[in-house]
Amino acid sequence: MTNSELLEQAKVAATKAYAPYSQFQVGCALLTTAGNIFTGCNVENASYGLTICAERNTIFHAVANEGSGMKIASLAVIALGQEFPPCGACRQVIAEFAGPEVEVWFLRDGKPFSMTMAELLPASFRL
Ligand SMILES: [Zn+2]
Repeated sequence: MTNSELLEQAKVAATKAYAPYSQFQVGCALLTTAGNIFTGCNVENASYGLTICAERNTIFHAVANEGSGMKIASLAVIALGQEFPPCGACRQVIAEFAGPEVEVWFLRDGKPFSMTMAELLPASFRL
């Protein structure tokens, strides 16, 4: 699984987004250390606060399948027609299941670009 393939799967997942309010279609794909790939999209709600981002949707799906030992090996996120890294809430959730060395991929100037979790969230909350 190359990073380009992971980004491609995120792009496919973005086409499934339920985003009637923002029209902001986001997809995520992650590779676990067990070698499985999971994808997800954002799902909005008329009660805006209930909306969930693609990254958290994907991570929760991965945990539901692999169990509490699920660890992220790499993660990619794409928004159709937009370029951005994960939001702050998702960075904290990614950090729960990824070490500081894990690379998070997204597009920058139309090309695959990555940052490590240490770069994205240098002072993550840990209990
Ligand atoms: Zn988010």
